[in-house]
Amino acid sequence: MLPSQQRHSRVFSFEFFPPKTPEGAERLKETRRQLAPLHPAFFSVTYGAGGTTRDNTLQAVLDIQQAGIPAAPHLSCIGATRDSLIEVLAQYRSHGIRHLVALRGDLPSGTLGAGEFRYASDLVSFIREQTGQHFFIEVAAYPETHPQARSAQENLLHFKQKVAAGADSAITQYFYNADAYYQFVEDCDAAGIDIPIVPGIMPIANFSQLSRFSEACGAEIPRWIRMKMQGYGDDLASIKAFGLDVVTQLCDQLLQAGAPGLHFYTMNTATLSSIIWERLQLSA
Ligand code: FAD
Repeated sequence: MLPSQQRHSRVFSFEFFPPKTPEGAERLKETRRQLAPLHPAFFSVTYGAGGTTRDNTLQAVLDIQQAGIPAAPHLSCIGATRDSLIEVLAQYRSHGIRHLVALRGDLPSGTLGAGEFRYASDLVSFIREQTGQHFFIEVAAYPETHPQARSAQENLLHFKQKVAAGADSAITQYFYNADAYYQFVEDCDAAGIDIPIVPGIMPIANFSQLSRFSEACGAEIPRWIRMKMQGYGDDLASIKAFGLDVVTQLCDQLLQAGAPGLHFYTMNTATLSSIIWERLQLSA
């Protein structure tokens, strides 16, 4: 169904955020311990816009490396200067990191100025200019259109600019509507974009939190899912069970259609991602 994507080998990965407390670090260590036996291609670690998690991101990445799994730090450019990014890139290089997820990031309004970089494409160009082909660079893609893009066409054009700047692969914002992903991939094909576009998968744990977050990041929760979840009220067991069914089915459809892997947004817990993994028999 997606022949252009089927040409790429499948890549499975898990995303974490850097813990802020010693308890959070312990929890993440346990999560890593549970997910490592699945042998993902890499674990990625998010990076607070404006460099706010710089040290914690690096620490989490080093912990992952030490546990023997390839690590891919995220790096966002909004609020950053050329000098600060040169420093971060040098730090990653010195620790043997070869894989980055390059993003613009979002600053809460009224915090820092925009800095010297406006868009992720500027960051990708800058990384290539500074470090050549040292890093394998992932960028973000938005099958349902980034909330600040004025149209799907503009969304695609800006994605194409990131690829032209030197991105090797892409991870999507999460979505629950497989058709949006298929259409986006077809539009990318028509626009001559030929990098892997790996679906980002958000297991459903806390539905009200997910609803709020989805509104902000432009991910649509289909009405049939929303209505069912709302009907469960505080029945967390039913929310979890239904969420697992919906997301497992989505992943299954995507892989069958030719998606080149899956990237799980774990929220630093292993349970839901590993149940989905098991149901999909990805270790078989
Ligand atoms: P861009 O590609 O720069 O796009 C941002 C907006 O600008 C889009 O609307 C785009 O259409 C528009 N645009 C791009 N180029 C131009 C141009 N030349 N002219 C006009 N408009 C343009 N955030 C973090 O802070 N830290 C993280 O670690 C992090 N990890 C993420 C991982 C993934 C897989 C994803 C999908 C998102 C992640 N985010 C993270 C969130 C991300 O930073 C936000 O979605 C942000 O709003 C956009 O980032 P981007 O890299 O896609 O930006």
